[in-house]
Amino acid sequence: MLDKRKRAINANSELYNVERWSNGYFAVNEKGHLCVLPEKRPDGPTIDIMEVIEEIKSQDIPFPTVIRFHDILRSQVRLLNLTFRQAMEESGYKGRFIGVYPIKVNQTREVVEEIIEAGEPFDYGLEAGSKSELMAALTLNENRNALTVLNGFKDEEYIRLALLGRKLDRKIIIVVENFSEIEMIIRLSLEMNVMPLIGMRAKLSVQGGGRWAGSSGDRAKFGLTCSEILNGISLLKRHNMTDCLTLLHFHVGSQIPDIRVLKDAVNEAGRIFADLVLSGLNIEYFDVGGGLGVDYDGSRSSSQSSRNYSLEEYAADIIAVLQQICDQVNIHHPNIVSESGRYVTAHHSCVITNVVKIIHQTTNSFNTDKSAGEHILVGNMRESVSDLTMENYQEIYNDVQQIKLDSIQAFKLGVISMEERAKIETMFWKIIGQIRDVLKRADFVPKELQQIDELRASQYLCNFSVFQSAADTWAISQLLPIMPVIRLDEIPGERCSIADITCDSDGKIDKFIAKNGYAQTLLLHALKKDEDYYVGLFLTGAYQDVMGDMHNLFGRLNEVHVYCDDDDPSDFYIEEVIKGASAQHVLSTMQYSPEIMARTIKRKIDRQVHRGKIQPREGVRLIDFFESCLEGYTYLKF
Ligand SMILES: *Cc1c(COP(=O)(O)O)cnc(C)c1O
Repeated sequence: MLDKRKRAINANSELYNVERWSNGYFAVNEKGHLCVLPEKRPDGPTIDIMEVIEEIKSQDIPFPTVIRFHDILRSQVRLLNLTFRQAMEESGYKGRFIGVYPIKVNQTREVVEEIIEAGEPFDYGLEAGSKSELMAALTLNENRNALTVLNGFKDEEYIRLALLGRKLDRKIIIVVENFSEIEMIIRLSLEMNVMPLIGMRAKLSVQGGGRWAGSSGDRAKFGLTCSEILNGISLLKRHNMTDCLTLLHFHVGSQIPDIRVLKDAVNEAGRIFADLVLSGLNIEYFDVGGGLGVDYDGSRSSSQSSRNYSLEEYAADIIAVLQQICDQVNIHHPNIVSESGRYVTAHHSCVITNVVKIIHQTTNSFNTDKSAGEHILVGNMRESVSDLTMENYQEIYNDVQQIKLDSIQAFKLGVISMEERAKIETMFWKIIGQIRDVLKRADFVPKELQQIDELRASQYLCNFSVFQSAADTWAISQLLPIMPVIRLDEIPGERCSIADITCDSDGKIDKFIAKNGYAQTLLLHALKKDEDYYVGLFLTGAYQDVMGDMHNLFGRLNEVHVYCDDDDPSDFYIEEVIKGASAQHVLSTMQYSPEIMARTIKRKIDRQVHRGKIQPREGVRLIDFFESCLEGYTYLKF
């Protein structure tokens, strides 16, 4: 017999689907805390997230905080490279795998540096899509065998920067996204007297599927049609530069949900590759772009927040399709480049937020005693409350819904008073609660009534901004795993949605991972007095970390970088803390001057002191207070 706590731990792991989305990196420990398994081994080192939180608190770093687990990042880089290597070995593929990390997925310097370091033995390189990213790549990556692949629209300056890199002996490949870029590359390399390395992005007919389907197909923004590729090659020929063409690129879009789409794309691009090689070109690299998906909801399906394949399958399928095409026409196996960003970074970071308040739907009740001359709607509602039985709950449910709607109309028309409306509201929620209790004993629950829990759900107000930390949940309904990191040895009983602290009504999350698909509510624990309750948003390392905006001027979060250390009793140490945005920082990015603001407030306070409206001592305190607010963290302090 498992004891109660153990049973709760198992039930909670299942409830929050930990095993499915965590890719082996997260688990619930015997204390009921979520912990990190940097080596994916339950018997290996484990980092208790609550212990990290305690240490963060002891350093006076306020929440919300991003925690980066650098070992996960390193592990993902190794996994990607080793999986491709192994799949190549198994199938007798003769080219090599040489991946690049697309900086745009998470440009944080520490993240990119960690990836480069972990990727060093594999000559893992970088992909950049803009001039700023290219400048970062030029200064970061010292490995001369690694590739730097350049995508995105390019101007002269972009190409000159790339050619500067060529002069430094770096393997920088300019991928032509757009026909006019070919002419520009030829002209500028002649002018700068350096041989460029050129790639061409093919516009495939295959559509990526899922959210980013528009990244390929006829209407895609990027890429060359077959005729453009052939004309581009003629242009290179005219300048004796066909040897510069070294890479064929495609990218069907991020988060490919269905493996068939990828196979189809590799096949189409593989045919283009084969034809080009047969025509005498020596193309060394076949770049499959990004798109390797992350199973955010753990469903292993082709739904938009999931994928129906594993990394092993992804690698094996690319290799098999390409190998078959090459062998058929008897040409060399090209080196395979991939630009997977989401897969590499998603798991390594999470946002830990504290719950600051619960907004209950139902608790604030009003005295509902009968009063003389009250409106008949109030009386009807009261009768429904007393009439409820095991048999008539559906009927009562319909009635009270109608009475509530009618009462709002009546209120708007001035027929019932505010007090009467408050009574009806209070009784409505009371009866909804009673119907819910009745349903617990019912064998069959009608579909409409299955949502009754959602109707009653509270909102847990969490100290973070959706727009800063989970932009995709708002923008494109991306699902992210969200769960408490403590008390996982207790069964949670509060149905809720999550609200953030921005004053935007869109600042909420009401779509959560559930066993079968998704749900509008999440189960969390009731809060305890004097105990902070921490909720984590997971898999935020790809895009979410860096796409945040300045909505409500909250700005960047505090950031804590955690490394695993098996010799330490807690198995970890905090290597670095990066302070999040202060009010003065976010204000100055919007052209305010914090000094002038401080001076203005001081002048106004001084004036009130002169007028005798504020005591001098209090005046000094108020000025200090305003200044400390300017220097302080933008999020709520609790
Ligand atoms: C965004 C992007 C990537 C990264 O895609 P992931 O799905 O995050 O792996 C790779 N290549 C190109 C050209 C991109 O635009």
